[in-house]
Amino acid sequence: MIKHLRSAADLDAETATLILDTAGEMAALAGREVKKLPTLRGRTVVNLFYEDSTRTRISFEAAAKRLSADVINFSAKGSSVSKGESLKDTALTLQAMGADAVVIRHPASGAPHRLASWVDGSVINAGDGTHEHPTQALLDAYTMRSRLGRIAGLRVVIVGDVLHSRVARSNVLLLSTLGAKVTLVGPPTLVPVDIAAALEPSTEVSYDLDSVLPDADVVMMLRVQTERMQDSFFPSAREYSRRYGLDVPRMRKLPEHAIVMHPGPMNRGMEIAPEVADSSRSTIVEQVANGVSARMAVLYLLLGGKA
Ligand code: ASP
Repeated sequence: MIKHLRSAADLDAETATLILDTAGEMAALAGREVKKLPTLRGRTVVNLFYEDSTRTRISFEAAAKRLSADVINFSAKGSSVSKGESLKDTALTLQAMGADAVVIRHPASGAPHRLASWVDGSVINAGDGTHEHPTQALLDAYTMRSRLGRIAGLRVVIVGDVLHSRVARSNVLLLSTLGAKVTLVGPPTLVPVDIAAALEPSTEVSYDLDSVLPDADVVMMLRVQTERMQDSFFPSAREYSRRYGLDVPRMRKLPEHAIVMHPGPMNRGMEIAPEVADSSRSTIVEQVANGVSARMAVLYLLLGGKA
């Protein structure tokens, strides 16, 4: 088993499948009255969050607690980071406290890679800048597999702000490893031509959402990340929504079995219409629940658990 999960590229098909299978076992726990396993008793998991998060932070905390680990939550606000402490000094402090795993979210792409060279424990990337978010890709793959029964051969369309999306990057890598066919769709300013080839040569690019929907098994809508945009990438929110938003008429173009995903947080009414987000095709709430199982599997396996 790998020691760190810094990128979806750390996972070969066998390891990814083992994590998804283990997540399935973990999901069975959620239905029980006592949702706890003693597996990580005595181990310490630190959640090191330098960027805002709702789902991911809570999900990692729930995952570690369900495995009986001791959990330390560190957020940059209110810590010595606001006094200017560097990531390295913070890492050495965690090291001195004996962290077995450090879950890190950071605005700088590559921060988990640096951290892994400073601490002895496992490092898990919970989102680094615009780079990657591998556990999101795992929970998305798990959701696709549980709804559609497989991943190999699925046609997955990822729509929107690909340029700023770590979710898109990790999904392209993991889905390609698992044999799905990915198409990236969005305005040319947010889906540069070379992005697909740079990530994974088999990935396709389209600028016409309506033309790809009839063949899609999965449509993954991305949030428009205005907080990471220094320039204006499209004329107006209305124009964006008209061309790349998933509304009810567009959803009707999908095959009967197709599902609609979104990693959250959603801009309802912009990239996704509320009626679509709340429809039976939407897996958005399921993705959150599956996130806990996927992260339990990652923590369990990285910290030495057996299949
Ligand atoms: N929650 C995801 C992330 O942290 C997606 C998003 O923020 O749009 O990358």
